[in-house]
Amino acid sequence: MYLDHAASTPLDPAVLAAMRPWLEGGFGNPSSQHALGRQAREAVEAAREQVAGALGVTPLEVLFTSGGTEADNQAVKGIAWTARAAGRGAHVVTTAIEHHAVLEAVEWLVAAQGFTATVVPPEPDGVVDPQRLLDAVRPDTVLVSVMAANNEIGTLQPLDVVGPALRARGVPLHTDAVQAFGRAELCLDDWGIGALALSAHKFNGPKGVGLLVLRRDLAVQPLLHGGGQDRGVRSGTFNTAGIVGCGVAAALAAVDLDTEPVRLGGLRDRLLDGLLAVDGVSLNGSRVRRLPHNAHVAVEGCDGEALLLALDRASVCASTGSACQSGAASFSHVLRAIGAPEDRAHLRFTCGRTTTDAEIARAVEVFSDAVTNLRAAGGGYL
Ligand code: PLP
Repeated sequence: MYLDHAASTPLDPAVLAAMRPWLEGGFGNPSSQHALGRQAREAVEAAREQVAGALGVTPLEVLFTSGGTEADNQAVKGIAWTARAAGRGAHVVTTAIEHHAVLEAVEWLVAAQGFTATVVPPEPDGVVDPQRLLDAVRPDTVLVSVMAANNEIGTLQPLDVVGPALRARGVPLHTDAVQAFGRAELCLDDWGIGALALSAHKFNGPKGVGLLVLRRDLAVQPLLHGGGQDRGVRSGTFNTAGIVGCGVAAALAAVDLDTEPVRLGGLRDRLLDGLLAVDGVSLNGSRVRRLPHNAHVAVEGCDGEALLLALDRASVCASTGSACQSGAASFSHVLRAIGAPEDRAHLRFTCGRTTTDAEIARAVEVFSDAVTNLRAAGGGYL
């Protein structure tokens, strides 16, 4: 039972079918002028149109990257560098619950590039107060970076309030929407989003490909220098098969946007009700402002790694936090930011396109048994 769709999702068969010709035969470089190159280029541009259509932007505003990490780094560093070079200031605002791809990019701007930053903490429910974010903006603020939805506890952030207010003040907003796309509403125009990062493997596409939406009026210095592909911002030979897969996956996610979040929400609610019915189990993050596929719980009297392994032995794949955190002994920065107690197990279950009702029922049984057994054996603490 795979309940770790926030870490990665299975490749959709239709995505694989669309990618296959570009792995098997269509090897031409999309920048080449001959027929093989032109065919590959057409496929890349068709994918760009699919992504643009799914997000309600123009194809010119879609830049393909190697994934969410690169897209976040490009947006944060590129916007900050350009604004400082233009003399607009060197202050950045972000939140304490961002993915490391944003947090560490901001930390590097501060440590190595002479920027200052204000890192706004979330409220105890895992949602950042929009007024606190806006209060952190100063005359020399050149960028605000706020994720659309948190990858660990699944909380939805108030872009609908923050975005328009920032636009009125002329401050660019970047959002890491890696977890939100295909699961929650994203209104780039209405919310005044200047830059937005996505990763294809989070929406049933391939790994190693993602994209940055960069609105037309926003200039960025590139991270990579080279052949000048994609508006001169993202040099490097196009990853034809990956980009084609990303396009098809984005189109599929957009088609399902009316129905899939509702279906996922039903599964998630049954899962949460079952988990929370076990004694000493509580919810992390807001129940209302949360991604429809995410159930994140704290479990008293159990060690997190021990519980995760017990579930794994019973064929339930869950996570103790974000994928990058699993295996690392340190307590998650997101859980710390919301004041979650460190002496409990914290588990994330995330549903997806392949998840069924029967799997949810079985996962609840396995969880309940594992908690009972572990507690009986002393909690599994080392
Ligand atoms: N941002 C968020 C919110 C994520 O969840 C992830 C992946 O876990 C990333 C960024 C990084 O994306 P990628 O794996 O494509 O580099």
